[in-house]
Amino acid sequence: MEITNSTIKNIVLASSSPRRIDIMTKAGYSPIVMPADIDENIPEGTKANDAVKALALKKADAVIEKIRLEQPSLYSNAPVVIAADTVVSYENKILGKPKDKEECIQMLKMLRNNKHQVITGVAIKVINGKEDEFKDRNFSVVSDVEFGDYSDEFLDQYSDTAEPYDKAGAYAIQGTFGQFVKEFHGDYDNIVGFPWAEIEPYIKKALYRYRINNIDHYLKAKEGQKTIKLAIDGGFTCPNRDGSKGYGGCTFCSDSGSGEFASNINEQIQLLSQKWPKAEYMAYLQNHTNTYAPLDELKAKYENILSNEMIKGLVIGTRPDCLSDEIISYLAELNKETKLWLELGLQTVHDETAHAINRCYDTALFYERYNKLKEAGIKCVVHLILGLPGESKEMMLESIKKVAVLKPFGIKLHLLNIVKSSVLAKNYPIETYPFKDIDEYTDFIVEALRYIPPEVTVHRLTGDAPREILIHPLWSHEKRTILNQIQYKMDRDNIIQGDLLK
Ligand code: SF4
Repeated sequence: MEITNSTIKNIVLASSSPRRIDIMTKAGYSPIVMPADIDENIPEGTKANDAVKALALKKADAVIEKIRLEQPSLYSNAPVVIAADTVVSYENKILGKPKDKEECIQMLKMLRNNKHQVITGVAIKVINGKEDEFKDRNFSVVSDVEFGDYSDEFLDQYSDTAEPYDKAGAYAIQGTFGQFVKEFHGDYDNIVGFPWAEIEPYIKKALYRYRINNIDHYLKAKEGQKTIKLAIDGGFTCPNRDGSKGYGGCTFCSDSGSGEFASNINEQIQLLSQKWPKAEYMAYLQNHTNTYAPLDELKAKYENILSNEMIKGLVIGTRPDCLSDEIISYLAELNKETKLWLELGLQTVHDETAHAINRCYDTALFYERYNKLKEAGIKCVVHLILGLPGESKEMMLESIKKVAVLKPFGIKLHLLNIVKSSVLAKNYPIETYPFKDIDEYTDFIVEALRYIPPEVTVHRLTGDAPREILIHPLWSHEKRTILNQIQYKMDRDNIIQGDLLK
């Protein structure tokens, strides 16, 4: 099935204007059309710009309320609502839709042989979209239009048709009156009543949430506010470091145990709360294997972290071979009391690679423990690394597909970063690194996302080791560029996470 913007069903147009519907349809969208029933009277003395913005907002809010009351399933799907209102302004007078023939003729006589402005106010709102990026999408766009001459006789005939009565200023540039437009400046679509060039970038931004089931957006929609993970060091080690299974750890892992950002909880909250005063926090036990200790020790550590009233949940980074039945039972209980998920370091489904990177457990064990966790109702995020030595893109994609089919709560795709103090720093042949640049990497990610079911949350799409320890690839520092390019390619090709599974 070809995926287009029209596949996305969550766009509501708060207008039944055929012109607006036409513009959206031509751009490839199929909006749900839901006109707003509001009082469109504009208080005397209101400036045209302010009036159209206020009316657009009023229409958007009225439709949101209608959806809330009448369509709860659509409401919970966080639709994007677009509303617009257009007026014609002549010498600071606002001309809306004419009420009758007399007003129609009066308006068009005023505009004859004169310049006027067409002003459209737009409101774009995402239900439950409390993200800053979706706030204040309430703007207006102005275009100038100059009319030539027309006769009173023509006006008399024209005002007997239905055409003028649903149009601000009693005309449409694409209708009968188009012939009298001598000149116009600004956006043609704005004169039609829908400044699409200004609207679409915001829609695309909002739709990005549908293209990728990003964990931040997922949590924001679920919790109603931003949730921040605070990386902390629980003071554990790993079985392939301390000799119980092996020595030296996984060959890609730095001596901090993949936890370069871990630091103190309260210090982090103090800093972050300046930027996000309402955010919620989850503690993220990131370094090493955070279930690799006797149960009593685990309980004491986890419960101590959760006793901090600022912490509303726990993310535990671990390995499947360090999750005994006893630990899983305890986690299942903990899961009832707090927000919890595990991050399982799988890295690859290929045992030959797993052996080469000194992972020290077989993939079969991952499946067995994963199923046990699933039975216990514990959410899992599976961590994969892209670019491990000896792996082709086909092998990486196979790992992604095999994990995706399990439909875990989440997936983390981590670009291999070769970092100082890791074993790979000494022996990885850089010339064999499978992604030569950002373009090649983002092409791969965009393809991979098409095999991940839309309900699986995406927690990471690249790697971002600190500059001071990163050896290769140095372009991975450009995290924003990488993410922007993924978004750009998905928009350009109308790709949605999981679309190849349908
Ligand atoms: S990748 Fe994970 S399991 Fe492997 S050594 Fe590093 S922290 Fe331990």
